[in-house]
Amino acid sequence: MWTIAIDLGGTIMKLGLLNETGLVATSFANAASLDGLANNLPVVEKEINLLLKEQNLSTKDLLGIGFSFPGLVDSARNRVLSTNKKYDDAPDLDLVQWANQNWGVPLFLENDARVALLGEWKHGAGAGYENMVMVTLGTGIGSAVLIEGKLLRGKHFQAGNLGGHFTVNHRGGKCTCGNIGCMESEASTWKLPELICSNSKFEASLMKSEELLDFEALFRNVALKDPVAEEVLDHCFSVWSSGLITMIHAFDPEVIILSGGIMKSAAVILPELQKRMNQYAWTPWGNVKLIEAKSVNSAALYGADYLVRSAVEI
Ligand SMILES: [Zn+2]
Repeated sequence: MWTIAIDLGGTIMKLGLLNETGLVATSFANAASLDGLANNLPVVEKEINLLLKEQNLSTKDLLGIGFSFPGLVDSARNRVLSTNKKYDDAPDLDLVQWANQNWGVPLFLENDARVALLGEWKHGAGAGYENMVMVTLGTGIGSAVLIEGKLLRGKHFQAGNLGGHFTVNHRGGKCTCGNIGCMESEASTWKLPELICSNSKFEASLMKSEELLDFEALFRNVALKDPVAEEVLDHCFSVWSSGLITMIHAFDPEVIILSGGIMKSAAVILPELQKRMNQYAWTPWGNVKLIEAKSVNSAALYGADYLVRSAVEI
């Protein structure tokens, strides 16, 4: 039997058709997330119908739809609870009804960080583990947690998702979430230009001639031994390792899976963070392993497929 996987990103909507052997077909469409979800659903419908037609499938071949959404999700009722500037009308929409009307199948909705974790667990770096944290270092910092083979969700469906908003500096700056000194507001892509420009040696730094002050530029200048780049990276390592150690103390994982754009520099990042985790985390049983996500492009689709199969199949 087949599943449809939908991965709704801020700029791209990814769709997949999966059977017991894995991902068989994918399609992509541009997302206009600022225009709301209702305006994007007709495109999703069209792409799904096209995928089914290409594989000569009818709705009778479908088990259901797994839907990964970038916001807080009530996965018991399959409703979006809260959004953050993407698809802001989503809490008003009934996606279960949408799936039932169009294809006569059940739909299972989950937060995107959790779906990516499920994908890495079932088809990626997390295979064989039952206790893990997945952290995405990107524009913001996202997280999700699996404990004893079960997603951590909590009373209000936000447990494990707010790792990026663990306080790592009680004297820190204000975060977009309302807290101060979050892991995310102390060292993420949106904070980086400020970290670099406020360094006292910035005027003499190679980084002054960089057009875009992103992590790619930072790592490029670290390789050139620019003192500002080195200091800022050391600050980021300190922030990230503090956050990861707090996650270890909170969630007791076997592994932490790291994902996100800056993992292009995994060869620099992983050994340094692993060293700091080993040094500072209280884990008398051994060390939590830090590993890189494996299925970056397809984890959400495999995770969405698992959402359906684990709910529908006995
Ligand atoms: Zn925050």
